[in-house]
Amino acid sequence: PASVVGFHTYGDQMQRQILHEGVNFNIILVGASGLGKSTFVDTLFKSSVSWRANANPTGFGIPSTVQIHTLTHVLEEKSMRVKLSITDTPGFADAINNADAWQPICDFIDAQHSAFLDAELAVERDVNIPDTRVHACIYFIEPTGHGLSELDMQAMLSLQERVNLVPVIAKADTLTRDELEHFKQRIREDMTTANILPFPQSRPTQSESQMMAAVRLLEEQPFGIVGQNFTDPDTGVRGRKTRFGVVEIDNSEHCDFSKLQDMLIRTHMHDLRMVTREVHYENYRRRNLEPPPS
Ligand code: GDP
Ligand code: MG
Repeated sequence: PASVVGFHTYGDQMQRQILHEGVNFNIILVGASGLGKSTFVDTLFKSSVSWRANANPTGFGIPSTVQIHTLTHVLEEKSMRVKLSITDTPGFADAINNADAWQPICDFIDAQHSAFLDAELAVERDVNIPDTRVHACIYFIEPTGHGLSELDMQAMLSLQERVNLVPVIAKADTLTRDELEHFKQRIREDMTTANILPFPQSRPTQSESQMMAAVRLLEEQPFGIVGQNFTDPDTGVRGRKTRFGVVEIDNSEHCDFSKLQDMLIRTHMHDLRMVTREVHYENYRRRNLEPPPS
């Protein structure tokens, strides 16, 4: 069968790492409550990529002030393994004061960097430091049709300093095709105005071809995604039933779920990990190793 995950497209170093140790790939879901974050976890883990049959959900066990909660499944292809963890978070609107609703998320992301840094600095250094650093933050935008809210902009500005930001339009089935295209355009404009730089704009030292690929990827974003609520018993097609019929989750003519999944798991996993290590983790390290002002 054709390779679904595409590990063979990764560089030698990562391939070797995947073969010998397996790698961690960690995603966090952020946004207002009720936008389909928990449904997304389910939709992704039920997708047809090669999940290991005996996948065991495990938590990171990192104490936190919000009920942040992580599910892990193992992606396996040939003898290569990726441990994919998705951290689901309670929605912003659950907080009474929305002003800094995203602060617990930022704290969580920082805590993972901090744990990694501590392990690196430890005298008795573990060769395999458990890597819980967050490689991608999927930010769910409400499908209002109007553009980004002030809260979205503030939250994204704080998040992009720490993590690769991947904005998506939630519940894309609630907009018509025209409305969705229009909304995407509007959000791209709002992001440019507010100086919000989603992945892969955070990527350092790009070659011309990488830059062109980045532009193409950004032109398609934010992806409009739909969460699964039904499987056709005859065809096995995954969908969501709406007033107008069935939206097929894995059909890129119907929604962008497969484009997002492809970017995360197949085409850009390596990049997302690299940028996390070289940009976001380095920034954290620099901020925290600086001598205190005298
Ligand atoms: P969360 O609070 O962000 O975790 O949202 P949930 O996943 O709990 O979903 C909230 C509600 O929205 C549930 O009734 C879901 O069935 C529904 N929902 C989830 N994804 C979609 C979607 O893509 N489209 C539509 N129309 N509804 C969705
Ligand atoms: Mg939820």
